[in-house]
Amino acid sequence: MLVDSFGRVHTNLRISVTDRCNIRCFYCMPADNVVFMNRRELLTFEEIERFARVAVSLGVNKIRLTGGEPLVRRELHRLVRMLCDIPGVLDIGVTTNGILLGEQAQELWDAGLRRLNVSLDALSPEKFREITRRDGFEKVIEGIQVAQRVGFDPVKINAVSVRGLTEDEIIPLGRFARETGVEMRFIEFMPLDADNAWEREKVLFAHEIIETLSNGIMPLAPVPDQNPHAPATEFEFADGVGRIGFIASVSQPFCMSCDRFRLTADGKIRNCLFSLEETDIKSMLRGGEPDEAIARAIVESVSAKKEGHEINTARFIQPDRPMYSIGG
Ligand code: SAM
Ligand code: SF4
Repeated sequence: MLVDSFGRVHTNLRISVTDRCNIRCFYCMPADNVVFMNRRELLTFEEIERFARVAVSLGVNKIRLTGGEPLVRRELHRLVRMLCDIPGVLDIGVTTNGILLGEQAQELWDAGLRRLNVSLDALSPEKFREITRRDGFEKVIEGIQVAQRVGFDPVKINAVSVRGLTEDEIIPLGRFARETGVEMRFIEFMPLDADNAWEREKVLFAHEIIETLSNGIMPLAPVPDQNPHAPATEFEFADGVGRIGFIASVSQPFCMSCDRFRLTADGKIRNCLFSLEETDIKSMLRGGEPDEAIARAIVESVSAKKEGHEINTARFIQPDRPMYSIGG
């Protein structure tokens, strides 16, 4: 088992498959002139699968593919199939911005994918453009519809909330959940943006969103018997129609129940989103090291995990890698 020095058991692996993206959300990437990883630096599907097999032998049973935008990685469905075929993997998910989802939802489903998170912060096309600095709103909406038709249920929608920017989107997104059956998840803005423009004042806190939804639509009540390791706290509207989750990473950090670690697209293990250290696995994978050595590197990285992020303290240091380069 992968246990750190605080007793947290790690069963959840997030794999970034690329740092490239087809939009430019301001809270994640720079607007222009992004220097992407050289394609040769990216782990191949075979290398990712080997790493995943070793991780599964250590107790991992949930894998999520992310990026960058995972759907810009050619033939992602092939990797989904390879990972689904690993005995012991109970759950594979993908987090996507949805732009290419209409084209790929069916092949991802056919490859065995059943869990899908689509990021959409706004239901106004103008606000979408302001946040992402690109067009594509209609494609995301269409992608969500195609995914639902294909069978993904529920499609979860991730919305980053930013004070002074997305307040007007909260009620429309709450109604969207009630009308379409998607599950909304509001995420507090974290200091992982490439422009280093994050400030605490820009975080729209989960409790404020709960209040806005409760006053503007109807009261929300917590869903009973929630998974203690899930980062989102789930709520339901009083009439049972529409489920809303909150990832309050800044106001209520869930570090003490964290069960996840990450593999970056260029083959580095990170034991926390906010790590300042990484373990280079690519050189091991390419240098002929046996699985036992890779397993040892994973165990050592996880056991060295810090107690938690320190966003709310003066000690906090923003990692050099922004979100798109780590894999969110
Ligand atoms: N491109 C895909 C997408 O946007 O869904 C996957 C990668 S993205 C980095 C994963 C998630 O991280 C998205 O839901 C995105 O909204 C979220 N995210 C990115 N930067 C963030 C930040 N600074 N604070 C909070 N969430 C962030
Ligand atoms: Fe791209 Fe996702 Fe980052 Fe937005 S949040 S820029 S979609 S990687």
